[in-house]
Amino acid sequence: KAPAEEAAVRPMALSKPITATEVKVNVSIPEAAERAKQTMADGVGLLRIEHMILGLNTHPQVYIKSGRSDEYINELVTGIRTVADAFYPKPVWVRTLDAPTDEFRAMKGGESEPYEHNPMLGMRGIRRDLRDIDHFKLEMAAFRKLYEMGYDNIGIMLPLVQHPVELRRAKELMVECGIDIENVDVGIMVEIPASALIIDEFIKEGIDFVSFGTNDLTQYTLAVDRNNELVADLYNELHPAVLKLIEYVIGECNKAGVKTSICGQAGSRPDVARRLVAMGITSISANIDAVESVREMVARTEHTLILEAARKK
Ligand code: PEP
Ligand code: MG
Repeated sequence: KAPAEEAAVRPMALSKPITATEVKVNVSIPEAAERAKQTMADGVGLLRIEHMILGLNTHPQVYIKSGRSDEYINELVTGIRTVADAFYPKPVWVRTLDAPTDEFRAMKGGESEPYEHNPMLGMRGIRRDLRDIDHFKLEMAAFRKLYEMGYDNIGIMLPLVQHPVELRRAKELMVECGIDIENVDVGIMVEIPASALIIDEFIKEGIDFVSFGTNDLTQYTLAVDRNNELVADLYNELHPAVLKLIEYVIGECNKAGVKTSICGQAGSRPDVARRLVAMGITSISANIDAVESVREMVARTEHTLILEAARKK
């Protein structure tokens, strides 16, 4: 074939730039797995479990109290498996439940959810998981089933972690539920400034990766409600304080050989990707529509950095 003809039939897959920094994709619902796969991403940096749960439209406690826990576990297994299959053997980091009480209250059987004056500072993420242990055990039962099926590409990511004690307790529960944490990637989201500032303590406690939840990290660092239009002009993912926290965590993690990633909206911005690559982040996870532009920027930034280093000699 003539070279031109060859190029014309060559699938896009073969022309994706190779980057040393992995470029991954965020997946919100299992139905998006195939579209996410077409991005040729290096894995899934965030699979949100709560949409599978909220999509059932029945509160998890209803399943538990009516003896339908197996049905619930199977729903999670099916959802996670769809994504883990699409990407196998590339890694898929699944985040444990992270929905605030107000979202749960809207579900069938959700009337018992406590009323919180400020749900975003309340019972969400790991906090909820560690108080509603019955439910956390169902999540872990789903993971265990998936590991038994051979999905060794699934990692477990804990949201809104604020203190290493929470990580320790979550890992104890994982072990109790039969998860071999020595052979499973377990990581935390860094989305509270406190966890960024004491990242060394999390590293000592034992983590395989961290992922920056910049949507929350920005709101908590700047004291700007991410959902309040009145102060939307103050919400800035590139605020020097946010960047300083991220840079510090990347530095500490690189020293310890812990992987770093980002799964907040900022990771879908090529201008942010450029800065993160320069800081030494090991992967970036972007929304499906942004993977290609982020990958282009990552490749370009890596080339520039190499050239700059070479010319400094
Ligand atoms: C984040 O906080 O950046 C994040 C990815 O989590 P969520 O947007 O679901 O809070
Ligand atoms: Mg978050």
